[in-house]
Amino acid sequence: MPKSKINHGPCSIYNCNKSSNDFRCLSNLAIRKASAKGNLRLYPYLQPGYQICSPHYTAIVENQLPEPTSAPAQAFIPTTLPVKPSIGDQIKQMTSVLYTKRHDNVILDPNEFDKMLKETDPNLTNFFADMCAILIPRDRSPYNKKEDRKKIVEILYLMAGIRNQHVNNFKLELALYLAGSGVTCDAINALSSAGVSVTHQTVYNYKKKLLTNIR
Ligand SMILES: [Zn+2]
Repeated sequence: MPKSKINHGPCSIYNCNKSSNDFRCLSNLAIRKASAKGNLRLYPYLQPGYQICSPHYTAIVENQLPEPTSAPAQAFIPTTLPVKPSIGDQIKQMTSVLYTKRHDNVILDPNEFDKMLKETDPNLTNFFADMCAILIPRDRSPYNKKEDRKKIVEILYLMAGIRNQHVNNFKLELALYLAGSGVTCDAINALSSAGVSVTHQTVYNYKKKLLTNIR
């Protein structure tokens, strides 16, 4: 047997860590097979005639290497981060909650109302607190804040009610009601920025127009 055909190595893979003493020569066909499997992307320097160890030969020519790109890419998809819904979306969600509970007793106690929303829809966990923060002026006394929280429960029922009546002009209806309930301009404008209500100026213009039409 001519000694020239025996492959003595070493393995052509950089930093080969296999302990095999069995080496194989890469034929043109072996290179094509490895390339077709996409296995040469890690070893672009391999060429026909190069010798590699038997374990590497099996891995590169005969097997499919694991896709290295898929796993890290998936790790960066931020699907696990919950996105907080907008106030407008939360009002829609609250409306469905109140609609499904329309035959239950109305809950006027703010803490009970808040609890009911949280328990029914986890997306509404901070909704009541957010609405209070928007609608109750910071400089209110603790007593007034407590009273205001009760009023906000009524406002939220009203919002849900107006929505369920398929009112076309929901934002204006709501702003008119809020203005009529003594909610401040700032609070109405805050809801307007959240896309929930029209601005206080629109309410003012609307009322002015109504009065002009009456005269
Ligand atoms: Zn090797």
